[in-house]
Amino acid sequence: MRIAMIGVGYVGLVSGACFAEFGHDVTCIDVDPKKIAMLEAGGIPIYEPGLDALVEKNVKAGRLTFTTSLEEGVLDKEAIFIAVGTPTRRGDGHADLTYVFAAGEAIAKALKEPTVVVTKSTVPVGTGRKLKELFARVRPDLKIDIASNPEFLREGSAIEDFMRPDRVVCGVDSEAAREAMRGCYRPLNTIEVPILFTSLETSELIKYATNSFLATKITFINEMADLCEKVGADVNEVARGMGLDGRIGRKFLHAGPGYGGSCFPKDTLALVRTAEQNGVDLRIVESTINVNEMRKRRMVRKIVDAMGGSVAGKTIAVLGVTFKPNTDDMRDAPSLVVLPSLKGEGATIRAYDPEGKKEAEKLLPEVLWARDPYEAVEGADAIVVLTEWNEFRGLDLDRIRQMVAQPRIIDLRNIFNPAEVAQRGFSYTSIGRPSVGPAV
Ligand code: NAD
Repeated sequence: MRIAMIGVGYVGLVSGACFAEFGHDVTCIDVDPKKIAMLEAGGIPIYEPGLDALVEKNVKAGRLTFTTSLEEGVLDKEAIFIAVGTPTRRGDGHADLTYVFAAGEAIAKALKEPTVVVTKSTVPVGTGRKLKELFARVRPDLKIDIASNPEFLREGSAIEDFMRPDRVVCGVDSEAAREAMRGCYRPLNTIEVPILFTSLETSELIKYATNSFLATKITFINEMADLCEKVGADVNEVARGMGLDGRIGRKFLHAGPGYGGSCFPKDTLALVRTAEQNGVDLRIVESTINVNEMRKRRMVRKIVDAMGGSVAGKTIAVLGVTFKPNTDDMRDAPSLVVLPSLKGEGATIRAYDPEGKKEAEKLLPEVLWARDPYEAVEGADAIVVLTEWNEFRGLDLDRIRQMVAQPRIIDLRNIFNPAEVAQRGFSYTSIGRPSVGPAV
């Protein structure tokens, strides 16, 4: 298939490279000339494990090219995917569709032959229909079919998620769109991935319902963690006991500082706005949003309490600032709430993140940056684990014990075993598990 991918962000670049790996010819298009120049020079604008090798391989094979010219890039394509951002619209919480419609209009003006335009961006119910109206208005002379193909990849394991998805959802309202989607995903037939064909509206809603359900699941276990702390239960074991029930499942039951990232916060909000517009109350999703917002602030209190009620004049070493490991994405990361608050209460923050620093230092100007975890903890009054990067699990706690001013760990991701940490002489506070003092 000949495919165009508009937008080379986290979704567009991964999807483009993976479609090329499937054997399709892919042209990736972006309005950002710096991104395109970097890609053409062999660089990768984001951190995603394995993406550099995949892009390099497919560029060399001649199946993957980059351009800033949408007018040329979309010509002669059998499917044109829109994978631009749909951030929260300032002021009202709706999804901002400016980029989607701008791309749609530019595509319509550029096309010379019939084709299928596919929304891969997460877009509210009804967006596909509006695009269809736009195409009919701008190009009444041309048959432009549309499809909705929401993306479910997770940053950090995006390539595996795209190449071996649990399912592919395709919203279509024409045979041409159905055929184009079948063609794009045909290589997945060999591993028997379910391809779900639905209406445009159903497909658009599946994406929001999925993300809102997952955000609710995380928020549910976070609230259980609060109760565990009060009654002396262990949330990790509660989650395991729940998750082994096949009706529940183990994923997305890790208690932590509240969800963040580029999708859950904006998608839950946009879903509630869509429901309001249609006169429907989504109280569970609304509660999830509110509980999660409060939780990030509660984490600040948790840290301050663990440090004896005040952080003024104290140095806090922060391990991890990205919203989750294996990405450099800082969008809506809990660190963006927690670190400025701690700084506001008089703490000095010294942070380390394996991949996030470049993006984070623009957003967290008040933070000092360390080159490795050991530099971060030197002379610190507390160590706060905010992101569960794998490299933190293997830290030499005996070495760290000798370097810190106060042996105190506040682990908001439960990466350590409380008894082991106490054995090494630390006081230890985690999520939904009893706090422990240093073992003597
Ligand atoms: P992103 O901000 O990383 O990338 C968007 C890209 O689109 C940018 O490079 C931007 O320059 C480009 N762009 C904007 N307007 C353009 C135009 N008119 N023509 C060409 N390029 C244009 O966004 P993302 O994280 O990749 O997300 C894209 C969409 O996918 C969003 O709707 C998001 O909700 C959805 N999504 C994201 C994830 C994720 O994990 N990031 C997962 C599933 C779905």
